[in-house]
Amino acid sequence: MPRLVLLGKQGAGKGTQAGRLADHFGVVHLSTGEIFRAQASLGTAFGLEAKRYMDSGDLVPDEIVVGVIDECLAPGGPLEDGFVLDGFPRTLYQAQELDRVLDGRPLDLAINLDVPREIVLDRLAGRRVCDNCQRVYHVNLPPSNDWICDTCGGPVVQRDDDTEEAIDRRLELYEQETVPIIEYYRAKGMLAEVDGVGEGDKVFDRLVNAVNEHASANDSV
Ligand SMILES: [Zn+2]
Repeated sequence: MPRLVLLGKQGAGKGTQAGRLADHFGVVHLSTGEIFRAQASLGTAFGLEAKRYMDSGDLVPDEIVVGVIDECLAPGGPLEDGFVLDGFPRTLYQAQELDRVLDGRPLDLAINLDVPREIVLDRLAGRRVCDNCQRVYHVNLPPSNDWICDTCGGPVVQRDDDTEEAIDRRLELYEQETVPIIEYYRAKGMLAEVDGVGEGDKVFDRLVNAVNEHASANDSV
């Protein structure tokens, strides 16, 4: 069962693809963004604190994120059975901490899902989300009835962290923080670069191929 990290700008389709990869390989999808949003709506202290950072476009501090990952990857769970990490690591320090948490069971592969900045800007600035069931829409693909969710009837709104200012800050930060992580995994021979532009199904096939190719390359060593 693979232990994977999926890296990619917000808006690169990383969350959706991470979920599909997890289903495909029969492992857990661990999204730090989803964990924080769920915790914030439950009103827990760390969830609310994490949401404050996300809403303003800042990175959630290392100690909060690493604490969550430490808990999610406690021995006996996904650590042995495999996982797809999405939204983590976001800094070189977090990547190093992940190696510590994995404790001798290294990642199989870190995949960089590559989508140019102007494409993700357009996707993110136009994104609208159902406040109730979290279904995602786009200004070019709205619900059929006046921003009322087709699925549940909830209000479809722009999320606090999807304003252009917040998006710009996030992409800027992302680029600063991610280049060292990519180099870190490249140096370990654990990095795959996958083109994230195009139809979702095609991108998904590329991702599955990258995982399988890496696995068979390692087996034949
Ligand atoms: Zn809804």
